[in-house]
Amino acid sequence: MIDLVKYTKELSKHFSAAKNILLICHINPDGDAIGSQLALFHFLKSLSRNVKMMAPNNLQEFLKWMDGADQITIFTNERSKGRQLISEADLIVLLDFNQSNRLGEAEKFVNLSAATKIVIDHHLDPGSFGDIIISFPSMCSTSELVHELICGMNGTAFLTRPYAEAIYTGIITDTGNFEHGAYSPGTFRIVADLIETGIEKEIILNNIYNNFSSHRLRLQGYALNKRMVVIPESKTAYIFLTKEDLKEYNHVKGDTEGFVNMPLSIKGIYFSVLFIEKENFIKLSFRSKGKFPTHEFAARYFAGGGHLNASGGEYYDTLENTIAYFLKALDEYKNKFEEIP
Ligand code: 5GP
Ligand code: MN
Repeated sequence: MIDLVKYTKELSKHFSAAKNILLICHINPDGDAIGSQLALFHFLKSLSRNVKMMAPNNLQEFLKWMDGADQITIFTNERSKGRQLISEADLIVLLDFNQSNRLGEAEKFVNLSAATKIVIDHHLDPGSFGDIIISFPSMCSTSELVHELICGMNGTAFLTRPYAEAIYTGIITDTGNFEHGAYSPGTFRIVADLIETGIEKEIILNNIYNNFSSHRLRLQGYALNKRMVVIPESKTAYIFLTKEDLKEYNHVKGDTEGFVNMPLSIKGIYFSVLFIEKENFIKLSFRSKGKFPTHEFAARYFAGGGHLNASGGEYYDTLENTIAYFLKALDEYKNKFEEIP
């Protein structure tokens, strides 16, 4: 059992002293970013704390059903309100990331703010930004960590339904519904408590995984059929999607979520990459099976990071050049793949 007492004491002190608390998650927020943010929000509201939420950019469609999601200020939609929230806050809690560039356009305003900054995160290689860094990569999700911290602060579990749904969403999205990631026996004990609150896990699963358009399913078929390249000698496969591909299939935010996992179902493939062409850069997602360190690869070549088996990064060049650069980088990692049986 991880000893969180040092942190829970410190957190309690800051939460009671702060006048305006602002919770901020990472850019392109996933289920864990929003889940951990909403859970902490519901908890602090229950203590009548003055707490607001902000995300650097829009939520994916499949997260908008969550209780409280409509109260999150989206920085890129409401820049002046976002800046005001940052300047008013005397305590900023940064959730589910460990590099300040994950704040997107909000980064410079957060950096300028004199508020105390607390990072709560579970990614590998925590950066040095933040006054207090609560980083536990052994946790499956920031939501699991937030839950443990709240139990510590509260002396017991805090379990309202919106809270339980938020923590449950964070846990299942970061573990692929308990398929991968750092889940532990402790995760299942938490899940048991959450389920006892009466949350309906089938409804949550449906909201998250069965809530897409027919275009999205066709885009998935197209990506696998026409845009997947398998490199058996490197035990690697990648998928690329151009701006035109996305437009043709009426892409909405969140539609490509999960695509990067699919090539890992191929026998002998241990490393999978998804390239998505954005307006002026390429967004990359990395997944691996076993020991291949995607976070290290992402940090070394693509200014990114994440977890051992799931990371992301970006590259400011054309899709063609990015893929060529990736293939060169992959060649430098040849030895790692030779070690895989
Ligand atoms: P995804 O591929 O689902 O977008 O991200 C996988 C993991 O990598 C997540 O934990 C996410 O927070 C992290 N990640 C994704 N993109 C980036 C990035 O550009 N920089 C860093 N440091 N982490 C990223
Ligand atoms: Mn996470």
